[in-house]
Amino acid sequence: MKLVFLGPPGAGKGTLAAKAVELLQIPHISTGAIFRTAIANKTPLGLKVKEIIDAGRLVDDETTIALVRERLAEADAQKGYILDGFPRTIAQAEALEGFSKIDRVVNFDIPDAAVIERLSGRRVCKNCGANYHILFSKPKKDGICDLCGGELYTRDDDKPEAIQKRLEVYRAQTAPLIDYYRKKGLLVDVDARPAVDQVITNFRQALKV
Ligand code: AMP
Repeated sequence: MKLVFLGPPGAGKGTLAAKAVELLQIPHISTGAIFRTAIANKTPLGLKVKEIIDAGRLVDDETTIALVRERLAEADAQKGYILDGFPRTIAQAEALEGFSKIDRVVNFDIPDAAVIERLSGRRVCKNCGANYHILFSKPKKDGICDLCGGELYTRDDDKPEAIQKRLEVYRAQTAPLIDYYRKKGLLVDVDARPAVDQVITNFRQALKV
């Protein structure tokens, strides 16, 4: 199954995708994660996109489309995938149609206030990338990863000004994709407000998987 996960930052797309990978046995392809790895490894791509991402703006379409086109050409993506964080603009959606045929677009629906609460409390392990939340998913020891003992930090793009910017960018540039895909008959809505287990149940019911 070839799926696109749509929804504002903080809707829980990444967490859900990790669960859906187990369920559907297809790879999770997150453009944000690919960019963050490139930044951590200081590759030419990482150096080019770091400032843009830290400010909560979008990387240009050309760079992002080329990256996804290459990734989807790999062997593991042939029988299916979960695209998380792509497309984020109409231009990206149109380009995607040129190189892959998606089956469904899952729209994770959540109000801005819930997004702000989730993102501002998110902490990520510097070492292994595990996610925590200071209210909803606390580590056993403050600031320390349960899994590997690494230090937890706040992503630069989870700082308040960047969260505002990311929400603005989402509403202006990405939310139009909801109608775009609804008109094509590909959209499935999932209420992303409840706790993760309930959202998974909603997702499974919506997709009948
Ligand atoms: P995410 O982890 O999906 O929230 O992505 C983190 C950041 O990576 C975004 O705020 C953008 O700066 C950048 N990014 C990820 N995916 C895309 C995309 N499809 N188009 C442009 N920029 C992207």
